[in-house]
Amino acid sequence: MRPARVPQRSELPPPKVEDLGDGILAYVQLDGSWGLNNTGFLVGSDAVTVIDTCFTEQRTRMFLDAIRRLTTLPIRTLVNTHHHGDHTHGNYLFLPAATIIGHELCRDEVIASGQSASALFPGVDWGKIEIAPPSVTLQERLTLYVDDLKVELIHEGPAHTTNDIVVWIPKRKVLFAGDVIFNGGTPFALMGSVAGWLDALGLLRVPEPDTIVPGHGPLCGQGVIDEVADYLRFVEETARKGLEAGLTPLQTAQQTDLGRFGDWLDPERLVANLHRAYSELQGEPRGAPLPLAEVLRDMVTYNGGQMPRCLA
Ligand SMILES: [Zn+2]
Repeated sequence: MRPARVPQRSELPPPKVEDLGDGILAYVQLDGSWGLNNTGFLVGSDAVTVIDTCFTEQRTRMFLDAIRRLTTLPIRTLVNTHHHGDHTHGNYLFLPAATIIGHELCRDEVIASGQSASALFPGVDWGKIEIAPPSVTLQERLTLYVDDLKVELIHEGPAHTTNDIVVWIPKRKVLFAGDVIFNGGTPFALMGSVAGWLDALGLLRVPEPDTIVPGHGPLCGQGVIDEVADYLRFVEETARKGLEAGLTPLQTAQQTDLGRFGDWLDPERLVANLHRAYSELQGEPRGAPLPLAEVLRDMVTYNGGQMPRCLA
């Protein structure tokens, strides 16, 4: 099921810092498959603001080293785009100096899920992980200033998870999208909402971002918003047909030709996405909890009995 081009861990390119101007930097970890997320940092005149951390201790320490090669200023603020471990496991390495900010439900989910992601990805060298949730939370919006650079944290409703926030920097039209945007990887809606995600993408289009730092994959422009939306509509349509035919999400996935989406990384996420779409088509609220263990078991079955491959 996996595209043949997925490399081994040793073949991955090293993480890269991309300078977006005005002290805005993106930290990109390719190939962007499971656990290989992007982060960012904003360098002001007296402090640094960081956006997200990494999955393992070593990867977060490499990210910290990359920041320290550019600045020795204190890191006072850390924003989490959502609760997933690849964006939050390294939070503790920024304490006690930094204040961690996230959506109110991000705090709840970080605490509730702990290190549960490790069960899904055997073979990853986690190092030491201490769970450190956001201590400042928001529900819809919060504005930060890095000197006079305005940085807007915006929750667009349940999408990739129940607690996504995007980081929008109007002056440079830069959007740190978290996992609301995957570029070249299969979107993953298990813990969020397919319909809500489509609504969120509509809202992201409005300010016409020039540069998007996706949660996974290379930097991109706004064309990728449409690609993610195309995939999510494909999931909804596939789920509708599967429900009508009386098939389970797993059976539907096994009968589905992914077409052009089959070239994206981690195609097995289709199964989980169908579980979410089924739930919504059957009238359950957006973001309602699903039986995660059962869904993940289906994903492994679809994947030929293989656990998802994580190169973090
Ligand atoms: Zn995520």
